[in-house]
Amino acid sequence: MRLLRTTLIVLTCAALIAVGALAFLLQTHPDFLPMERPAQPKGNAVRMLFLGTSSMAWTDGKSTWLVDGFFSRHAVGNVLLSRLNVQEDRVLEVANEIFRRLEMPAALSGIVVAHSHYDHSMDAPFLARQFGGRVYGSQSTWQIAKGQNLPAMQMEVMQQGGVASLGQFDVKLVLSAHAPTGFTGGFNSQPVRLPAHALSFKEGLSYSFVVSHPAVGPAPFALIQPSAGFVAGQNKGLTVNTVFLGTGGLGKLDEQYIADYWQEMVVSTRAKKVYLIHWDDFTQALLEQGKPVALKPMPRLLDDFPRSFELLKMFSKRDDVDLQVLDGWEMVCF
Ligand SMILES: [Zn+2]
Repeated sequence: MRLLRTTLIVLTCAALIAVGALAFLLQTHPDFLPMERPAQPKGNAVRMLFLGTSSMAWTDGKSTWLVDGFFSRHAVGNVLLSRLNVQEDRVLEVANEIFRRLEMPAALSGIVVAHSHYDHSMDAPFLARQFGGRVYGSQSTWQIAKGQNLPAMQMEVMQQGGVASLGQFDVKLVLSAHAPTGFTGGFNSQPVRLPAHALSFKEGLSYSFVVSHPAVGPAPFALIQPSAGFVAGQNKGLTVNTVFLGTGGLGKLDEQYIADYWQEMVVSTRAKKVYLIHWDDFTQALLEQGKPVALKPMPRLLDDFPRSFELLKMFSKRDDVDLQVLDGWEMVCF
């Protein structure tokens, strides 16, 4: 009995130390200062406000839509040790700040969801219930929406891809792949009821988004690649000026993979501008006491952003492409 008790105490202590060490490592960030800032926008042009991970708000002065809209950004301890819920106050604060900065009414035309991991999909049903519009995503994302009681008429399942018409924007969902990070794969076959552990949100299908708007021209002008994965040839025949390039986990992958990713997303689309996204630690809030917080790179345990950034910088010089890292709340105008 005594031996059993001692063993249990030792095991509990070891588990606590392991969780403590993990939490510490997940809060150790590489030093990184984003380089120059993009110019602030003027007027009612097509604009994009970046919100960490692959979350973005787009507007043309008439309608507003989101990519993902993941604003809960739970603290690392909660992600490790608890089941997660939508942090409603935090999500609403961020959403209201978005509408304020875009000078747009608090209404959404829709939300396109990149894949069903919690850092992309979790807050979309809540945002759609609050601000209207449909959620566009895979069957796995539909299970997340069902778990939050989103009415069926506010969800459009895009299993094979397709086009979301969001005001005058056309956003084409293209089947792509997740970065090979070790957290990939699986489908949600049941509604994901909250609270749910981060690992309960299975990837489902991963999409890229191709954005068109008549004010920018008849052809697509931007490609959004939320996760640092690709399907060889997925962008065949596509030409865009701008790529929003996800880098999450890229720094841990080999140089050839990073070169192939760049080739597929940037060289093959003949893009001239690349903005890096999904490079940040999404356990840090976007606002603190109403003020924007500078994003930090993902912890070293999960990524090596300085390494992937150096490689991408090298490719961008070689290919004469303008490369920038987007900080939270930065706006890009088209
Ligand atoms: Zn993911």
